[in-house]
Amino acid sequence: MKKDKIPACAGIKNYINGEFVNPISDNYIDNYNPAIGEVYGQIPDSTKEDVEKAVEAAEKAFPSWSNTTLAIRSKILSKIADLIHQNLDKLAAAESKDNGKPLSLAKAIDIPRASSNFQFFANAITQFSSEAHESVGLNAVNFTLRQPIGVVGCISPWNLPLYLFTWKIAPAIAAGNCVVAKPSEVTPMTAYLLGEICNEAGLPKGVLNIVHGLGTSTGQAIVEHPNIKAISFTGGTATGAHIARIAAPMFKKLSLELGGKNPNIIFADCDYDKMLETTVRSSFANQGQICLCGSRIFVEEKIYEQFKIDFVQKVSELKVGNPSEESTNIGALVSKQHLEKVKSYIDIAENEGGKILFGGKKVEVAGSEKGYYLQPTIIEVVSNKCRLNQEEIFGPVVTIMSFKTDGEALQLANDVKYGLSATLWTSNLNRTMQFSKQLHSGIVWVNTWLMRDLRTPFGGQKESGVGREGGFEALRFFTEPKNICIKF
Ligand code: NAD
Repeated sequence: MKKDKIPACAGIKNYINGEFVNPISDNYIDNYNPAIGEVYGQIPDSTKEDVEKAVEAAEKAFPSWSNTTLAIRSKILSKIADLIHQNLDKLAAAESKDNGKPLSLAKAIDIPRASSNFQFFANAITQFSSEAHESVGLNAVNFTLRQPIGVVGCISPWNLPLYLFTWKIAPAIAAGNCVVAKPSEVTPMTAYLLGEICNEAGLPKGVLNIVHGLGTSTGQAIVEHPNIKAISFTGGTATGAHIARIAAPMFKKLSLELGGKNPNIIFADCDYDKMLETTVRSSFANQGQICLCGSRIFVEEKIYEQFKIDFVQKVSELKVGNPSEESTNIGALVSKQHLEKVKSYIDIAENEGGKILFGGKKVEVAGSEKGYYLQPTIIEVVSNKCRLNQEEIFGPVVTIMSFKTDGEALQLANDVKYGLSATLWTSNLNRTMQFSKQLHSGIVWVNTWLMRDLRTPFGGQKESGVGREGGFEALRFFTEPKNICIKF
């Protein structure tokens, strides 16, 4: 769509060299409000020429930014964190409108965490250090420099828009890199607002550049650009594989945070009430659109029938509604296309040997009839081999099945191509240690879910990704180690 067709509510522009600019082509993509199923703005449909401009700005900013003291970098990142915090209401409203998530969730989780990401790396960079090795008896000493890479690319998905966007950008710029970043075209709004905040915080021009557009054009141009030396990507496994194919022959550093199909393993000896309450959350928070949601629930046979009754009861109390209403637990799914994809899995449930215990239907919310709403859905399955248990649905749909022994539970949990996170409910210490060691996943939560300490390594095994984010792992990813050996 040409610029003259943009309605007054649009206004999303690329953020290049500290300025807000239209795409060179003057082409735009519709941006939807999923709660009402209507277009409410446009975003730039950027091409490789726009990416080129962003890379040029980043390259120009790099010599100065990479030599800026840690104290100054830290102060600017802290200021960005403060400004995100000060703009909590505005950012949360924008996130909820763009994504369909409950406003209460955006206020409690998404935006505070985006602020914490900047504050965390503002602190972490002042504590980051490298190593020295004395070659004893050889009169030599080695020390390792950890230097910023240069211009790096950060590409993020739509489910936790500002939360995941800043989780990459903050360590990248803290470590002295300049960034070309692309948020999901489905949820661009808070990334756009972040540009304003960075200017206000005094981030020098060109240190962060945000280019909007489709993955297959704008995203691809970032991955293909020869002067972008590292790519930090979060998104689907198929996209990650595609990016790896492009980046590998160019020897780019790659961090890939991909899909999941996480087990939630429940033993009879757990704290039942705590487990039940948390399992409702780990199943349906953010409409089930969190890569860490426990979408395959395995329950010990002894408590299986009771769990079914109690879980269905609790889930039936969740209110599906317009995200802006305080009482809403489950908002809208992010797009019509995604709603249809999630629904298609419910439609094949019976052929897959599944039985719908609750939900399964689209919901018409009064006053928001065209919005993308779906009931939270529980499907009982008889085999872990079915598509419902093997493929990532990424919506408000969980499966449940029973198991008899520890060995069976472990086998079921690991029998999937993904390996992002796992949740275990038990009070048995020996079992906790056995499962923790043997689960094929990057993260294991025991008697809790989504409890995050930002210092810990975050990422997946198998087809859930390569590399780890978080803490010093992220600062290591965004720096190049160089060893210097001095003979004396
Ligand atoms: P997606 O892979 O479709 O898109 C993610 C991002 O990549 C978007 O910005 C998109 O525009 C871009 N992209 C798409 N094709 C590209 C290409 N060819 N080159 C470069 N960039 C391209 O994923 P999505 O639908 O936005 O997000 C959902 C997926 O993200 C789920 O699979 C979910 O599990 C995963 N996810 C993983 C984590 C994690 O930490 N492991 C966190 C959140 C979401």
